[in-house]
Amino acid sequence: MSKGKSKQIQSVRGMHDILPEDQKYWRYIQKKIEHLLEYYSFERISTPVLEFADLFNRSVGESSDIVSKEIYSFKTKGGDMLALRPEATAGIVRAYLENGMNVRPHPVKLYCIEPMFRHDEPQAGRYRQFYQLDVETIGDGSEAVDAELIFVAYKLLESLGLKNYDVHINSIGDQNCRPAYIKALKDYFRSHSKNLCSNCKIRLKENVLRILDCKMEDCKEASKGSPQMVDFLDDACRLHFKHVLEFLDEAEVPYILNPHMVRGLDYYTRTVFELIPSENAGSQSTLLAGGRYDRLIEQLGGAKTPGSGWAMGIERIILAMKDQNINVPEIGSKPKVFLVQLGEAPKRKALPLFESFRKAGIEAKSSLGRDSIKSQLRIAHRLGVRFALIFGQKEALDGTIIIREMDTGVQETLLLENIVDEIKKRLKEKPLAVVGSSKEYEEDPVK
Ligand SMILES: [Zn+2]
Ligand SMILES: [Zn+2]
Repeated sequence: MSKGKSKQIQSVRGMHDILPEDQKYWRYIQKKIEHLLEYYSFERISTPVLEFADLFNRSVGESSDIVSKEIYSFKTKGGDMLALRPEATAGIVRAYLENGMNVRPHPVKLYCIEPMFRHDEPQAGRYRQFYQLDVETIGDGSEAVDAELIFVAYKLLESLGLKNYDVHINSIGDQNCRPAYIKALKDYFRSHSKNLCSNCKIRLKENVLRILDCKMEDCKEASKGSPQMVDFLDDACRLHFKHVLEFLDEAEVPYILNPHMVRGLDYYTRTVFELIPSENAGSQSTLLAGGRYDRLIEQLGGAKTPGSGWAMGIERIILAMKDQNINVPEIGSKPKVFLVQLGEAPKRKALPLFESFRKAGIEAKSSLGRDSIKSQLRIAHRLGVRFALIFGQKEALDGTIIIREMDTGVQETLLLENIVDEIKKRLKEKPLAVVGSSKEYEEDPVK
């Protein structure tokens, strides 16, 4: 290393780059999301990355792990406490209230695909900046809404080709029936407190429900015999839950009743659910999670308005798709023509030539950095193009170009001004390559 060479700057821990070779997954997933959600009348919304920290204190809850440990917050020069959003629901509800969406026909169905930030311990598929698809239905408390949200979640994973995951579902009641459950849970864990981890000893005082979320073995063990919310549901909540399950039965969405699933956020009421890979139940590999939040909008200063929604981590979905060897289409179309450029004058004339191919709907490629004919033809071969066009100094001077049929190696010299029409004609002539709409090109997989 030479003296004075600067130290290379690394990415911030837990932050990751999405490299070109992974973009095909992002594009594929985004297309599937748009297609499915817009069919079910969800409209896209984008909210800022930065919000007042108070938004999350009042919604997600100050004692939650997300706010107490994982939130990125800071004071601005003007003295405001801001936070990078750790989740999307609070911001969407804020936007709903601030933009007067409460006067629109209800329910208001929204989705976003945005980066979230949590200062969490990085692990496979889990980053400190990560992307979430967030789906919300605001303004309708009915069972059908929860069932539709779960149905759409299930169908989304199915449309991505993911297999072997289960819908885990529970009801955590509401402010009417939950207090009795919390009391029973406190009594239970108090008598088991010596087995709890230090975090859960604090949770026992502050938010006993979260003990059920703890991943420590001893706490999981202690949770096994604990009371179940389903036994404490009042009639209204019990009926609501029963109807959600009936809707799912009708829609043939298989589910597993998970009596100890509570989800880690303060704002949930009644239905909570997660989609978890079958073989990994209990681990942290939840693909998608959500629930109903009938009090959140009130908590954030709005009128009493029910809501329900879920979020899905895109990075984890990609990891699951790779694990299951799911093929996604490559970005870009299969080129039909490769332009071999030899020398300065041909290189200068190549750009307008490329543009005329693009306008004619013919996908052309070249390799500007290569100078030898051999290396360029090798690339043409690898791309599987039907024709190589060889454009050297002599041809540039004469206004001609050499066309080479890759399969046979047969070459002939043509006038440069006719080349686009000629290629068009030849591509049509043989069944080897059918020229169709640009859409057909798009779906043509690269070999
Ligand atoms: Zn209730
Ligand atoms: Zn614990």
